[in-house]
Order: sequence, then C-alpha cells, then structure tokens
Amino acid sequence: MEPQLPPDSHYMQLPREVLIGKQVAPLVGATLTRLGISGRALIVTGPKVKNIAADTVLASLNDSGFSVHTSTVEGSTTEQVTLVENQIHEFRPDIIVGVGGGKDIDVAKLSSMHTSKQFLSVPTAASHDGIASPLVSMKGLDRPYSYVAHSPVAIVADTSIIGRSPYRLIASGCGDVVAKYTAVRDWKLAHRIKNEYYGDYAAELAIMSSRLVMKNSSSIRMVSESGVRTLVEALISCGVAMSIAGTSRPCSGAEHLFSHYLTMTAPRPALHGEQCGVGTILCAYLHGANWELIKEVLHKIGAPTTATELGIGPKYVVEALTRAHTIRPERYTILGESGLTKEAAERVATITGVSN
Ligand SMILES: [Zn+2]
Repeated sequence: MEPQLPPDSHYMQLPREVLIGKQVAPLVGATLTRLGISGRALIVTGPKVKNIAADTVLASLNDSGFSVHTSTVEGSTTEQVTLVENQIHEFRPDIIVGVGGGKDIDVAKLSSMHTSKQFLSVPTAASHDGIASPLVSMKGLDRPYSYVAHSPVAIVADTSIIGRSPYRLIASGCGDVVAKYTAVRDWKLAHRIKNEYYGDYAAELAIMSSRLVMKNSSSIRMVSESGVRTLVEALISCGVAMSIAGTSRPCSGAEHLFSHYLTMTAPRPALHGEQCGVGTILCAYLHGANWELIKEVLHKIGAPTTATELGIGPKYVVEALTRAHTIRPERYTILGESGLTKEAAERVATITGVSN
C-alpha cells in the first residue's frame, strides 16, 4: 500500500535485488535468504513453465530450507487471482514467487498485493515490461490497460531460460521497449498541454532503454547472450522507470492505446509488444519524429511492421487510430481528445506502409 504523503511528495517502490545472467534461476532461494525471507514459499506458475524453470526454482527453495507449495494458473484472469489468494490464505506463505511469462507474473503480483505479501519475479520470457514493473493487466477487469500494483522485492532473470523461449516473444519484447520512443514524447506533450506531472529521470531511463535495444538489434536478432541480456535489462529498466514515476506514463503512450484497442477489437490480435511496435511507427509519424528509423529497427529485429504482418486487417488499424483515445480519456497523447479523422488515419497508415 502506498503511504499517505504530504502534498508534492513522491513515493517510489523499487526492487531490492536484480539478478541477470546465465544460470541464475538456482539462486532464488539464496536471494531470499539474503533478503531475510525464510519459511514458506508459494510458487505461482503456468502449465507450460513447470519443466522449464519452476522445477529449478522449487529445488533452489528446498535447498534453502523453504517449505514450498506450487500453484499452477491458466492465464491472467480475476478468477485465477482469487484462486491464488485463497491458496495464500490457506498456506500462509512468507513469499510469493512468480515463475513464467507476463501473465503468470501478473497473477503473482496482484494476488500478493491483495494479501499484503512480497513477491519475487522469475521471468521465463521477455515479451513485455510487466516482468519487472509494478503494473498489472488482467482480463476481466473493467479497464483494458494496466494499473499500478506493487514492485517485486527481487527479480531473477535467467538469460539461458529466456534465450530458449520462442523468438516471437523476444521480438515482441523489443516492440514494447522501442515503444518508449513515442511514450515519452506523449508524456512530454501531456505535461505541456495538460500540466501533467513529468519526471525527467524516469523519462530518460525509458528513452535510454529504447535507444539501447535499437542499437543492439543485430545481437538481439542472433539471440546472443549479450543481445538477450540487453533486452532483459531494458525491460527491467522500463519497470524501474514506472516505479520511479509512480505511473506507466514513461512507458505507455498512444502506441499502447493503439495496441490495447487492437486487443479489444481485432478478431485475432497479435502480441502486446508486436502491436505496440507498429503503433510506435504510426505515432512517431504523428509526432513528426523519425518513424523510418523505428520501422527499420523493428524490421531488423524481425518484429512486425505492417498490419499484414500483425495478421490484422488494415481497417482495424485505421479504426484504432480514430478510436483508441476513448479507452483512457485522461491519458492525453498525440491522438488528442477526439482521435484522428478517418482520412488522416488512412493517410498515416498508407504513408508509413503499415497498410500495405
Ligand atoms: Zn507495454
């Protein structure tokens, strides 16, 4: 829970330990011991993840003397969160350990917050910045976008596990990081137009992550150890940027609204980060920024740059540009308060080659 603060004060909740590298998953138990946490641990994981990482984490916790229960969840729905909360009330763990992709981590994050427990994040994929951020996005909530929950007490990101995940997830993670290029521009715009709080430090951290992923696109494409590490560090830095800002602003602008809108409306939506990447091309054009560079980088990474590559009809792209502003009206972006006109949306999609 956030403390009650005097006006003009700022609250930041950050992870205390971050481990990144090959074969760090077996260090989960020792990390908790170092943090002074012992006793019982509840692992929250997905059915596919169990053999990849959860067994390693389980062994590590046992070695450090933890009594461990495992909760296998299917997707990030409010029902799954309730289920895990019931298990927390029953088992009374001292720590929740989320092991898996963004959805498994989200369930661990939200159920631990609701029950006032700490949680540790062990991401097995690098598909978006939720692995380290204090935010969650859930199916079944009234709002389609993320909201602030709490930060993990530690993050243990094993690059040998993440590097073996399907490449599509890695490319999607790059799209989510590249998206900060326009997210920060939108944040600045909202500061100028709406006098919204703007924090230089958080903004620079998000932009730096985006720049580093762009610069290292070749090594990411090769799935080299340094490439995967760059992406994971960038995703974690984005999570930290949100923790520092106390809002998703540095990491989520119009390109995210665009992605959320497609997720809600397209018959077969693509991955979050893939849609954000294409949204960044479109929004960079609207900002008068270097959209060609964004397109070139995404292409080099092997992430989608067109509606066809997303597997989504161009009409959904045009509709998203005209309507995405409605899903979060308080979030001022380059889409303005009334969205693009249909003609403008069609022109942007054509000029940038997104509708090809
Ligand atoms: Zn995102």
